[in-house]
Amino acid sequence: MHHYIIMGPQGSGKGTQARRLAADLGIVAISMGEILRGHMANNSPIGQRIRHHMETGQLVTDEIVDQVITDRLRQPDVAKGFVLDGFPRTPGQAEFFLTHHRLDAAILLEVSEETLRKRILGRRLCDGCGKDFNVYFRPPKVEDVCDLCGGKLSARTDDTPEGIRQRLSDYRSKTQPVVDMLRQKGLVLTIPAESHPDEVHKQVLRSIGVE
Ligand SMILES: [Zn+2]
Repeated sequence: MHHYIIMGPQGSGKGTQARRLAADLGIVAISMGEILRGHMANNSPIGQRIRHHMETGQLVTDEIVDQVITDRLRQPDVAKGFVLDGFPRTPGQAEFFLTHHRLDAAILLEVSEETLRKRILGRRLCDGCGKDFNVYFRPPKVEDVCDLCGGKLSARTDDTPEGIRQRLSDYRSKTQPVVDMLRQKGLVLTIPAESHPDEVHKQVLRSIGVE
């Protein structure tokens, strides 16, 4: 059984790394964001509570998050293990999790603010075929034109540099206490995540003693 948490800010490649790790180990990648959106889409009683929090700009409470993660980890597909993405977000959620589940490691993806900014602001998406580019890391041969279909490329984000800075600073202030708590228990593996996703994936596997 493999029980992992993956942590990192938006643009750190956390979702990709969670899915690749889960695929390699034959376990399930669980995204808290997807679970919360799923509950809202079903408009279940808990989905309505989640929607209320989100629409009023509040964090979904620990009580709700703890309940949905408990329900999710009772499903049969987690029998061989899981990689959690987007949970725990607070020390309270981490405490709750650790009293009910064994954790092998929390994998922390570290990327500089400058790289995160370029990854997010540099994204361009083809209006024609959906292929994605990045003006800093994977630029098209001709500016704003898709290499594959000649379609027009558009920015896929309305993030501003200031918005990103704010979000990163929020992430750091909220997540740092969780990281500190898990680190004290010897559970944090820090992975430099600036390089190509294939390389990051290899380092993740090495860090947990697979491969
Ligand atoms: Zn295209």
